[in-house]
Parts: sequence; C-alpha cells; structure tokens
Amino acid sequence: MIVILLGPPGAGKGTQAQRLKENYGLMHLSTGDILRQEIAKGTELGLKAKEVMDAGGLVPDEYVIKMIEDKINQPDYKAGVILDGFPRTTQQAITLDEMLEQYNKKIDAVIEIKVDDEQLIKRISGRYSCAECGVCYNKYFKKPAEEGICDVCGSTEFKHRSDDNEETVKKRLEAYYKETMPIIPYYVGKSILKTVDGMRDIDEVSAEINSLLEKK
Ligand code: AMP
Repeated sequence: MIVILLGPPGAGKGTQAQRLKENYGLMHLSTGDILRQEIAKGTELGLKAKEVMDAGGLVPDEYVIKMIEDKINQPDYKAGVILDGFPRTTQQAITLDEMLEQYNKKIDAVIEIKVDDEQLIKRISGRYSCAECGVCYNKYFKKPAEEGICDVCGSTEFKHRSDDNEETVKKRLEAYYKETMPIIPYYVGKSILKTVDGMRDIDEVSAEINSLLEKK
C-alpha cells in the first residue's frame, strides 16, 4: 500500500504517519526527516538544505526526488510506504507517478489533513521534543507532567527545530499554499484524494484515516 499524507506544516502528518506505521506495518518516509539527518551529518546536501529550510522555503525538486528514488525501491519499502511531506510540488507529484509506474506500483490513497492557520502556528511554534528519546511536547497543549523532565525517559534536555519559529512558520505556510496546494486538483483528477478534518483530537483523526484506508 502506498499512502501520501498531504497537509500544511503542523497538520499532524508525522504523528498520523507514525500511527499508520504501527497499525499497518508500513514504512514511514519523511523527506523532512531525511533532510534533517543530512544536516546533522553535515553533508553537502545538508548544508544546502539547511539554508532553505531555515528560510521556510522548499528544497529544490531534484534533491528530494533523488532521495525518494533512492528509498522507494529498497526491499524494506516494497511492502508499503507512507509518504510524509512528499510530494510538495506538482513536479514532484508527476515524477513520483512516473517512478511508481516503472516499478508497476500505484498510489492507493492521498489523505489531505486540513487545519486552520491560527492553530497551525500555535502547534508549530509551541512544539519541542526530548533530546534523548525524541518524544514530542508542546508548550501550549502538552507539557511534561513535571516541567522540564521528559515523561518517558526522565531526560532534562529538550530540543526545538530551528525552523519551528513563528516567522519561518508563516513562510512555510506560504510555500504550502503556493507550491503544494496545486497538487490537490491533480489527485482529485485521479479520484484518490480524501480530506480529513485535522482540527480534531489525534485519536479521532487517526480513526477516520483508518476507516478511509479500510475501504480501499
Ligand atoms: P517537514 O519536516 O516535512 O515539515 O519539512 C521541513 C522542511 O524540509 C520543509 O519546510 C522544506 O524546506 C524541506 N522539505 C521537506 N520535504 C520537502 C519536499 N518534498 N520538497 C521540498 N522541500 C522539502
């Protein structure tokens, strides 16, 4: 099964992808995560990407397409994959279809998660994670039970993504509306787009996504 999660930054794509991975045994492929790994390793791609990411822009298509191409046909990914944050441009969507066609695969569902801008800005600018175990928190919605101590591993070190500040978030939203939203009619035309209301509780959103996928 190949599932695309589409939605603005902060819509909950990463959280829902994690749940789909657990429920359906699919691989989670996030281009944002791969780029952050490249930045952490200090590679040439990482250095180029960091500048664009910190400015809230999109990394050029050729780099992200290459990243997907390298992964999608690996044995681990053959059973199925959730694409989180890819495609983000019409060119990426078209190239993905061409790539899948070569391997006789096709997209089963594109799930668009919709959330209001005001809520997105709060979700993103408030989010941080444990530097040790990676569990996510939010200063507005979900603080650790004891301030400054991770609920899961007890660490007192936390990290905050450098592009998760209010100014960059606004730019990332602009990039979403300008570059990514035009993909929606492309998938509507293929009758594979489903839209869910991402303003609801995480469990309700994931129940709806599961029921949409079970109908497939
Ligand atoms: P994310 O973790 O999905 O929010 O992605 C973080 C940042 O990585 C984005 O704001 C972009 O700068 C970059 N990025 C991730 N995926 C893509 C993509 N498919 N195309 C272009 N840039 C991307």
